[in-house]
Order: sequence, then C-alpha cells, then structure tokens
Amino acid sequence: MYDVIIAGAGPNGLLMATELALAGVKPLVLERREEVDVSPKANGLVGQVNQALDFRGIYERFAGTTQPPTAVPAYPFAAMTLGLAGIDRNPMYVLPIQQRRMEELLAERASELDVEIRRGHEVRSLTQQGESVTVRIATSSGEYELEAKYLVAADGGRSAIRKQLGIGFPGITDTSFVGRAGVVGIDAPTANQETGELDVPGHGTLRPMTFTRTEGGLFAFAMFVPGQFRVTFLEWTDAEVPGDDVPVTFDELGAAARRVLGAELTMHEPPDGVPAMLGRSTDGINSRQAERYREGRVFLVGDAAHVHSAMGGPGLNLGLQDALNLGWKLAATIKGWAPDGLLDTYDTERRPVGERVLMHTRAQLALVAPGPNVTALRELCGELLQDKANVQHIADLMSGADVRYEHGDHELTGRFFADRALHGDGGLTRFAHLMRGARPVLLLMNDRSDLADLATGWADRVELVRAQPVDHAPPAEAVLVRPDGYVAWAGSAAEGLERALATWFGVAQVRA
Ligand SMILES: Cc1cc2nc3c(=O)[nH]c(=O)nc-3n(C[C@H](O)[C@H](O)[C@H](O)COP(=O)(O)OP(=O)(O)OC[C@H]3O[C@@H](n4cnc5c(N)ncnc54)[C@H](O)[C@@H]3O)c2cc1C
Repeated sequence: MYDVIIAGAGPNGLLMATELALAGVKPLVLERREEVDVSPKANGLVGQVNQALDFRGIYERFAGTTQPPTAVPAYPFAAMTLGLAGIDRNPMYVLPIQQRRMEELLAERASELDVEIRRGHEVRSLTQQGESVTVRIATSSGEYELEAKYLVAADGGRSAIRKQLGIGFPGITDTSFVGRAGVVGIDAPTANQETGELDVPGHGTLRPMTFTRTEGGLFAFAMFVPGQFRVTFLEWTDAEVPGDDVPVTFDELGAAARRVLGAELTMHEPPDGVPAMLGRSTDGINSRQAERYREGRVFLVGDAAHVHSAMGGPGLNLGLQDALNLGWKLAATIKGWAPDGLLDTYDTERRPVGERVLMHTRAQLALVAPGPNVTALRELCGELLQDKANVQHIADLMSGADVRYEHGDHELTGRFFADRALHGDGGLTRFAHLMRGARPVLLLMNDRSDLADLATGWADRVELVRAQPVDHAPPAEAVLVRPDGYVAWAGSAAEGLERALATWFGVAQVRA
C-alpha cells in the first residue's frame, strides 16, 4: 500500500510530493497528461510564496540565483499602481517565471528525491474504507487499482475527485465579458523588443506585466521572450461573438485592440515559428471555493480547492502554500507522531486564506469593469492609495503577509517567520537555509540552556539552532517555527514552549 497518492502533476501536486519526500514519506504522483502542459498559465509568483520556496531552495532554482527574493517598488492592484517604495514592510516579492518552467523544475526536484511520477495515468474514481483509499486509474493500456493511506487531489479547478466526493464548490461564474488573447509579434516603433514596452497612442509607454483599463475594456500584456508578446483583451459586452468553431484572426484581435485601447495596435505572427495560440473565451471567470478541504482520507489542494480570477496573480501564492501547509502534517501523521487533530488544521488554516483571495480578486475584477460608477470608485480608491497605511493593507492582503493562523501571546505567533541573516555556531547563515530540510526549527537567540534541554524530548523531529540575528535585536528569546515557515511559538517561558511542542509536534520521546 502507498502512503500517499497525489492526483495531478501541476505545480501544487509536485510541490506536495517534494514536501512528503523531504519528510521521509514516499508519495506516488499520477498525472493524466503524457507531457507537461504547455498552455499559457501563470507568468510568475507573487507574494509570500517566494519566501516560502526560498526556505526549500526552490526559489533559487526558479530564479537562477542564490540571492534571496526581492520586493518590487510598484505592483498593479485592479489596474491601479500600488506604490510600494515608501511603505515600512514591502511584502510584494515577485518572480517572473512561466508555469511550464516551474513544473519542469519541480518535476526535476521530485525526481532527485526519488518520487515516482506516472504520466498518462488518470485517476478515474476512488473508494474510501477504514484505513485506506482505493484509487482506480486509467491508462492507454487499460485500468488498474492502487491502495494508499491518503489521497491528495491536486487535479485542478475541474477536480473530478472533488466532484466524486460530493464536496460543493459554491461561488460565481462571471460571464459579463469576452476575452481574446494570443502570443503575437509587434513591430518597432510601437514595441521595444528589449524592454517589452509598448508605445500606444493616447496611453503613452505601457510597461509589460501591467493592466490598462479603459471605458472599452481591459488590456494586459507581457513579453517573456524578446519579440513575443502575450496580449489579452477583456471586453464587457453583449455583442454577438463568433462560435468556438470560428478561429480567431489577427483582424479580430486588432479590432478588440481598437475597441479597448481606442488605438491601432498592429499584431502579427510571432517570430521563430512560435504558435500564436489566438483564442477567444466567453466562459467567464469562476470564483469558487470548496466547502471543505478534507473528506476522510482525501485532501484538496490548489485549484482543486479554489479558483478565482488571475487579477494580481495570487493563484500559486495560495496553492503552493496549501501544499506546504498540508505536506508536513500529512507526513507527521504517517510517521506516527502527529498530535490529535493536526490534520484538521489544514482546513481550518487554509480555507480562510482562500476566502480572502476570492474577496480581493473579485474586488479587483469589479474595479476594472467599464462605466462611470466604476471610474468614480477608482478615483476614490486612488485617493485612498495615497495613504501609506492603505497601501500596506492592500500589499499585505495580496501577498499573504497578513495571514495569521493563531493569536498567541507573542506578536510573532501564528505568522510567517521572515528570513533574516543569522550568526551562529556554524558562522553566518540565513534563516531560510535552516529550513531546507522541511523540519521544524527551534531558534534559540539567547543563552537559554533550559529551553534547549526541554527541546531534547523532540530532538528526533525538531532541529535546535543557536544563532543571533546579524542586523537586528532578537525578536524573542526563542522562536519555534513549523516546517511551513509559520511560528508555532515565540517567547521565553519554558511552559509555553513545552505546550507548543506538544500541540504541534506530538509527545516527547522518553529520555534515556
Ligand atoms: C491564464 C492564466 C494565468 C494565470 N496567471 C497566474 C499567475 O501569474 N500567477 C499565479 O500564481 N497563478 C496564475 N494562474 C493560476 C495558476 O495557473 C493555477 O493556480 C495553477 O495552475 C494551479 O495549479 P494546480 O497544480 O492546483 O492545478 P493544475 O495546474 O490545473 O494542475 C492539475 C493537474 O492535474 C492533472 N489532472 C487532472 N485530473 C486528473 C486526474 N483525474 N488524474 C490525474 N491527473 C489529473 C492535470 O492534467 C494537471 O496537470 C493563472 C491561470 C491562468 C489560466
């Protein structure tokens, strides 16, 4: 019997697999597709997920640098500019990277950790019995069954597993607009092939990865490879739209550009034989969340648990941190040291975070619609965004920096423990490097041998590190950080530490 079967080798299923493998549990990943999906999806990682992936060394692979994540000086919120340079704590870490590349690199990491990924194997159905889940799998050469202790459904927004379990997916499908998109070539002088900027009459110089809202609709674009522009036009319209059997042409895309931008934008086939992948969508945007993230031995992660508009790019900030939250809890349960109820905290911690993402993506979609009322609302928002406190609030919301799972005595408790430079027995390091093994860390920042003695009862599970911050005063005498980077406890009192160790990491070993 397998410990865990993961359905879906998208980014969230793959990260889940690496988390389990790091914790010593062997998962099996089943992916319906034969090859990595090449359709255009995420263009980057936005927010706290960058720091969380830095804790595993995955950010380094994605970014191709050993430098820690960097925050951007400005970021779009509902096609308005959030000026972040002046705020006290800028949490908008952004890494431009295409989803396809993320999936390739995560699969590479999974294979280094000996994770088996079976491509072309589709989970068709499941049954749960006492201590296990039986999964029926279809391949091109027939069907077979496997048994596992747990099943993780990372099978995307249309999750067949969620549907089979009868877990409701309430929410809305906003069909008030038509989308047109493609990968196109745009010539100079309109396009700067090096910077990816576009000079559009009436709009000045538009930077890539920004949104332009007009009374005609919304225009977004990016340039990932010099000369290849990914463009998207959204129009709120009742006008008749050609059927799915009618291919989108460059003329149709150009007409959308004229309506949205009120200007001529000449687009043509992209260079180097790259497919233009012109498309039209009237399906609308789903904004839905699963009623519960767990049903017995089955857990939903990522898009299987929540879908929403891509405004602000929050999808993987949310989904990948679902995987980081569930991974160590599931591994602890399989290893036999999880305290009662640990697995249930996956739902109680992550569902409210998903609700907040649905809230701000819906708000952003409402704020980019055309019409004088929305224009007035945007003016008002623009005024509010002159106030640094409001910018901080929105940036914390969009990045996930405002997530706090529990409110303990200390300000840090329940929050993500940000990376910092440390000086300890082993010399200079970063806190992020202490988290590479996906184990809980007790960071002692003062000479408290009583706390160190206490923690020996959990030495098989919890890493003890003595180190001091290089640039700042210690935020507490000691901090106990969970494998997902969240603070289980901070402070100085031995009773508090003992309680937190038992709450999160189970019963102490009997000392010899
Ligand atoms: C146009 C667009 C732009 C986006 N931009 C961003 C962005 O900039 N930043 C961001 O963070 N997010 C963005 N997103 C969202 C992001 O792409 C998703 O959140 C992400 O793909 C979710 O990953 P996942 O692993 O949960 O699901 P998916 O990526 O959907 O992966 C699910 C996998 O499961 C497989 N599968 C399905 N059913 C089965 C089955 N029964 N058995 C086995 N395998 C199965 C599928 O083949 C697939 O490989 C964007 C999405 C779109 C569509």
